[in-house]
Amino acid sequence: MERLQGEVNREKAAAATAEWASDPATVAEIYHAGFNADEQDGGLAFACDRGLVIFAFDGGTSWSIDPGGYRQRAQGIEAFWRENQHRNRSIALDDLNEWHRAAVATLVAGLDSVGQLPELARVGITNIARADYIYVCLRRHARSQTQEDSLRALAANDWIMEMDGDGDTAHPCPICGRPAIGRAWQYNTICDECYSKPVCREGHRVDGYNTSLGGGFEAAHLDDKSVCDQVTRDGAVWIDGVECHMGEAKFGGVFVGIAPAPE
Ligand SMILES: [Zn+2]
Ligand SMILES: [Zn+2]
Repeated sequence: MERLQGEVNREKAAAATAEWASDPATVAEIYHAGFNADEQDGGLAFACDRGLVIFAFDGGTSWSIDPGGYRQRAQGIEAFWRENQHRNRSIALDDLNEWHRAAVATLVAGLDSVGQLPELARVGITNIARADYIYVCLRRHARSQTQEDSLRALAANDWIMEMDGDGDTAHPCPICGRPAIGRAWQYNTICDECYSKPVCREGHRVDGYNTSLGGGFEAAHLDDKSVCDQVTRDGAVWIDGVECHMGEAKFGGVFVGIAPAPE
């Protein structure tokens, strides 16, 4: 089930549910007057033989086992509605701690690191590596580098809103020195910017992915979508001419990094 493209309406929602259903004849709309009328946080709900599907007007989709029964379905819809209201709530700079405010300022200014902010814009930031970790998390979830979208991303992601001065830190990208986050085995992982650059031995841009939900690793060429046997086999990729390793991260997902030089 993918997000609906463009405006969310009954026809598209019904069609998407029918496509997902094992038997399209089982699709039926589940009405909820309040949820259906709330243009900002509400949406439409449909049931079919595979489950209950909720389409939010703002584009989000949720599907679950159909609890059956009018009351149970209404409860499912209302739980979704409350979560959507929470994610869409408006927050102001004053609602943020100094770590979030510094991350927002860094994003809006288009800087690579919180450390590049003028000192007055990062009062209270005692650990730049920690501040950069929060900044990279925010940047990954903000749709654009504006204050408005930064605040939206924070409202929608409680786990970032809960961050403060204690926790994981960023490290310098081994390729370009910009802040990078995440650990993978013994490797120093690269930053988000460099992550879009790896090429295989033949010079084709490659992307790695898991072959199933449980893991497994494969890399493919971006130009013709063919599997790259070389990277899939040995993980060697090059970024700006520097050899790196691409592989499966410990808990799924894919990382690119450089092994630290032996002591
Ligand atoms: Zn980098
Ligand atoms: Zn290749």
